Amino acid sequence: NENDSTVSITVVGASGDLAKKKIFPALFALYYEDCLPKHFTVCGYARSKMTDAELRNMVSKTLTCRIDKRENCSEKMEQFLRRCFYHSGQYDSQENFAELDKKLKEHEGGRVSNRLFYLSIPPNIFIDAVRCASSSASSGNGWTRVIVEKPFGRDSESSAALTKGLKQYLKEDQIFRIDHYLGKELVENLSVLRFSNLIFEPLWSRQYIRNVQLIFSEDFGTEGRGGYFDNYGIIRDIMQNHLLQILALFAMETPVSLDAEDIRNEKVKVLRSMRPLQLENVVTGQYKSHTKGGVTYPAYTDDKTVPKDSLTPTFAAAALFIDNARWDGVPFLMKAGKALHTKRAEIRVQFRHVPGNLYNRNFGTDLDRATNELVIRVQPDEAIYLKINNKVPGLGMRLDRSNLNLHYAARYSKEIPDAYERLLLDAVEGERRLFIRSDELDAAWSLFTPLLKELEEKKIIPEYYPHGSRGPVGAHYLAARYKVRWGDVGVDQ
Ligand code: NAP
Repeated sequence: NENDSTVSITVVGASGDLAKKKIFPALFALYYEDCLPKHFTVCGYARSKMTDAELRNMVSKTLTCRIDKRENCSEKMEQFLRRCFYHSGQYDSQENFAELDKKLKEHEGGRVSNRLFYLSIPPNIFIDAVRCASSSASSGNGWTRVIVEKPFGRDSESSAALTKGLKQYLKEDQIFRIDHYLGKELVENLSVLRFSNLIFEPLWSRQYIRNVQLIFSEDFGTEGRGGYFDNYGIIRDIMQNHLLQILALFAMETPVSLDAEDIRNEKVKVLRSMRPLQLENVVTGQYKSHTKGGVTYPAYTDDKTVPKDSLTPTFAAAALFIDNARWDGVPFLMKAGKALHTKRAEIRVQFRHVPGNLYNRNFGTDLDRATNELVIRVQPDEAIYLKINNKVPGLGMRLDRSNLNLHYAARYSKEIPDAYERLLLDAVEGERRLFIRSDELDAAWSLFTPLLKELEEKKIIPEYYPHGSRGPVGAHYLAARYKVRWGDVGVDQ
């Protein structure tokens, strides 16, 4: 019963960047949308000294209202901020967490208390914080859940050690591992597109799909924040988690139901059917300095927080294969990079040639260009479009490529919620579908760990590419080896 229970959300590491940028704004958006339970408290926890008023002031600067919902905005912000408190403490102090517990109890007012801890802190202190939170500040009569942010280790061994550490204090169903890509609107829509439209699912196999491309690019480098990144690199930062999660959702068999365990079971099956990555199927790159229009853009190693001789990849392209009946032989190509010419995340599905196409002669020699391509643009400017061949109107018979286009901004006037809103709401409601289960995480690391070790042991030199370019040419050779052309090259729309 809503009236008898309450949720206390503790943001551990509340003074940090992620808390300010994402977590507090997402909590406010949920409050504004009336998605949070009637009784709730938000508590910031970190070592920094701050009063409640100082926390509220800090948080208030980052809250925004949706464009279509501006009424009462400031009033709602005030109401939300009154529910926010702060407690200063160490991450490894049971005593400090016991003080937090006392404070939370005052706000909970004797109701059944459910507690959610969001660990927005560096991973080396996860276990300390979980130990203290579970022993001194977990709920006595309701549920206690913990949200953890990546990185979940840096290889199979460290990930297993982290899971083991967390499971000393928590059960698997209390751990919510966030991969915020799973909270993105178009990633969630993947299953809807596929399983609720007759025209896609029958084509979703090696019989009709030539290749699938998962592309992530950022148009900026590390810019003074490379310290964290240098220890991980783009493969761990983007491929092993975000792109692989999208791949698993894309390629899974139809789940028994939409229940979290049914979906996650299917995702694990995909991951376990995949071949571990081979060095020969991977190209790595690192951006170098580049001068354009009188402006010099720095190299990765110009970042003061990065060692001068760092070989950490800021770009990688890889060909992956799923050895099952549905996908046998279909290359799944991934590409992820920083400091590229554009900012984007998308899925591209290239279909096979039309057998015995009557119109082949209208395409000249470039038959590849005449195949259908489905593009799901996850960000920015969300869209789903299908490239089709069409007759150019007129008396002659000329064909061109046109798009059947679902452009979200034009179709839906609503602003799309941030991924963190959906994920936080799911964690409060106990919906685990979009969180990573530990066996999924193990399977994901098994695919990448041998490759990562080999890259590091052999000190493989990345291919240097100019800041702001399209990335290393090696990515094109890799794709060409599998008769693939990257779909994001050239003008699209
Ligand atoms: P952050 O700003 O570096 O750290 C969050 C807070 O943790 C800091 O305000 C600080 O609070 C405390 N802290 C920092 N370093 C510490 C240390 N060495 N020992 C003890 N406490 C320390 O991190 P963030 O960018 O907010 O990210 C939080 C977590 O989310 C990290 O695990 C990060 O990898 C992950 N993540 C972040 C992003 C992002 O966009 N920023 C995206 C994905 C994942 P006090 O000094 O006040 O205690």
